[in-house]
Amino acid sequence: MTPVRLPDAEWQHDDGLKRVLAALDDVYGGPRYVGGAVRDTLLGLPVSDVDIATALLPEEVINRLEVAGIKAIPTGIEHGTVTAAVTGKNYEITTLRRDVATDGRRATVAFATDWQEDAARRDFTINALYADPESGEVFDYFDGLSDLETRRLRFIGDAHQRIAEDFLRILRYFRFLARYGGGQIDADAIEACANGAHGLTALSRERIAQELSRILGLKNPVASVDLMIDKGIFTPFLPELSKSAADKLRHLVEREAQFKQPVSLPARFLALLTRDIVAADKVAARLKLSNKMREGFAQRLRAGVPTPANVRAIAYRADIDAARDAVMLYAVDTDAPECLARLEQWDIPTLVIKGGELISMGLPPGPLVAKTLQAIEAAWIQEDFPGAARQRELAVQMVNAVLTELN
Ligand code: ATP
Ligand code: MG
Repeated sequence: MTPVRLPDAEWQHDDGLKRVLAALDDVYGGPRYVGGAVRDTLLGLPVSDVDIATALLPEEVINRLEVAGIKAIPTGIEHGTVTAAVTGKNYEITTLRRDVATDGRRATVAFATDWQEDAARRDFTINALYADPESGEVFDYFDGLSDLETRRLRFIGDAHQRIAEDFLRILRYFRFLARYGGGQIDADAIEACANGAHGLTALSRERIAQELSRILGLKNPVASVDLMIDKGIFTPFLPELSKSAADKLRHLVEREAQFKQPVSLPARFLALLTRDIVAADKVAARLKLSNKMREGFAQRLRAGVPTPANVRAIAYRADIDAARDAVMLYAVDTDAPECLARLEQWDIPTLVIKGGELISMGLPPGPLVAKTLQAIEAAWIQEDFPGAARQRELAVQMVNAVLTELN
């Protein structure tokens, strides 16, 4: 059989990468690309980060990088990972390893010199492809190439055992399924994920949330999420998710395609939840989502049902992204296009009238100023944000009304 070669791709021509590879050249046949970079290049997809495997020990990696004048960061040195920072890019270099002990959360590793051993501890066959940077030869120890071709996601080894070693692999399974699935579904793997789901409680909420965010941030995670709900994968950390959550997510994803809108993570999360602000905030707190995300949930839920008449007011009170998400999630079908059109190419305006101006119109300084300003703002929003001249008219009207009341 003629060896498969890695297709040429732009990322391979980076000068920094070439310097890193030259620094790591060694007697075991030199460093190899591994993981996502090999997988995605074979599929003709863009590559965002390049992982490199080497038989050199981490200290040696650091030494060689430093001798070559490349910054070496010991990111995960105890696991064998060193980051090379060169010309604005980062390359993760990991020494070949084998697992000596696992507890479902973390592994104790030993360094190795055998490529197949290193491949065996990786999660899926399509993630255990290596390529020689010089010749482009692809090394495939577990039939990853044919799985890639038929879009089959397969654990390396026994799925039950691999999940017990590291429960995060359950969520990784559904993430990679959403990205690369489409072929025959491995019933045994799905069953192993379902049986192991309870083990997710052993993981930190941050790790779960990070992996869940990656799943929800994919272009089309609907089939994966549907299967996850079906198999009880969410139960340990999102028991409130109902079966209909996948339908709501599907609706959002379809709308994104229909209106050519980008993926929004807060919207993707909210599609899964009920429209109760308190309940959504509980979920956000449980998953330790960022404060920005929590506030983002509340802004979108407070928006109610956007219509062409109120959508700019929603954007003004929150921001354009929140208003757009609220439209995508909650507007009725017939209103959505016009709502989006009203947000496009529109900058949130500011009220030009300030308190000082009201005082110069005769309003006594004090709490009445802020109150009147609020009334002017409300009328201005109601009238769809007219310009300075109309704002002044509104101010004169409101100030006069207040003064009449006072006298
Ligand atoms: P992405 O494009 O999402 O970065 P990737 O395949 O590079 O995809 P990473 O999470 O960056 O995924 O991991 C790099 C490689 O490390 C994987 O391809 C896989 O071989 C291995 N790996 C990562 N996490 C695990 C895990 N929990 N168990 C086993 N192998 C893993
Ligand atoms: Mg990667």
